[in-house]
Amino acid sequence: MDSTSVNERAAVRADTSRAATAAWSVDAVEALYALPFNDLMHRAQTVHREHFDANAVQLSALLSIKTGGCPEDCGYCPQAARHHTGVENESLLSVDDVLAAARAARAKGATRFCMGAAWRGPKQRDLERVADMVKAVRGLGMETCATLGMLKPGQAGQLKAAGLDYYNHNIDTAGEFYGEIVTTRTQDQRLDTLEQVRDAGLHVCCGGIVGMGETRRTRAALIAQLANMDPCPESVPINNLVQVEGTPLHGAEVLDPFEFVRTIACARITMPTALVRLSAGRQEMPEGIQALCFLAGANSIFYGEKLLTTGNPEAEKDAALFERLGLRAMELGATPEAAHARR
Ligand code: SF4
Repeated sequence: MDSTSVNERAAVRADTSRAATAAWSVDAVEALYALPFNDLMHRAQTVHREHFDANAVQLSALLSIKTGGCPEDCGYCPQAARHHTGVENESLLSVDDVLAAARAARAKGATRFCMGAAWRGPKQRDLERVADMVKAVRGLGMETCATLGMLKPGQAGQLKAAGLDYYNHNIDTAGEFYGEIVTTRTQDQRLDTLEQVRDAGLHVCCGGIVGMGETRRTRAALIAQLANMDPCPESVPINNLVQVEGTPLHGAEVLDPFEFVRTIACARITMPTALVRLSAGRQEMPEGIQALCFLAGANSIFYGEKLLTTGNPEAEKDAALFERLGLRAMELGATPEAAHARR
């Protein structure tokens, strides 16, 4: 074995074996990315086992409660009104429809129900209906999450009062690359909403997207930015760009799947107690790569991406994969954050 590379790896280990609360430099995360693949997997799996049952995966269900017609210009998103993608606009669903979808998700084993709306931010009357949805879903004994865009002062508190557990608001990509992807808002505005969410006592679900033509350095900066949030998000969705015709990012260079797995591993190592969610892009991913993502420390998925009240074939496919891999659904309350909440 080459002793130089052993020493280099030892240096990386020393540099990266820091407490979860210490700041992560972009250089340190980039050094993780640069580890030999097997070393990175071993390290991520070791961290993962220190904090979680390595064979349990949290299942979240996602429902679009208001689809399309969004005034924002996120380059990856088929729901932006200005991108001609064929997505049909749908107005805000009724509470009954949402409740029926949540019941179906619970019956399939989902413990968290995420409600997403394609808005720049919610109007007050819409927020009130979402609050009713949250109350109803909470009544089923599920964790609730909402992603509604930027919040105005007071709105996070209203959602919290309705029983919301998590608010999702992704920073999308590293600060220096943000303007290449979105121009209708700044990342600072995202951070402002995240601060309001924290101040209201809600758990934070915050991650980003890779495969948008960014460099490895930018991916490392995204992970460092997430890991350095104080406290770091309880849930970290890592998305692989799904290229949709009609969006500006259609045609972007496709990310090497191993680089995606490395990103999951870096998220796991730098955010040891977070649920790292293998999110958008999973449907397009070969099952072998999904298995590597679980090995790298991903322990949450969206279960059945297009959730309807009838039929959900994706959920059956996932169940079959879980069986082949010996994975099982994480029980509600089994996460480190739930343990913290009980204290
Ligand atoms: S704010 Fe959300 S729904 Fe609107 S364009 Fe951006 S990602 Fe799409």
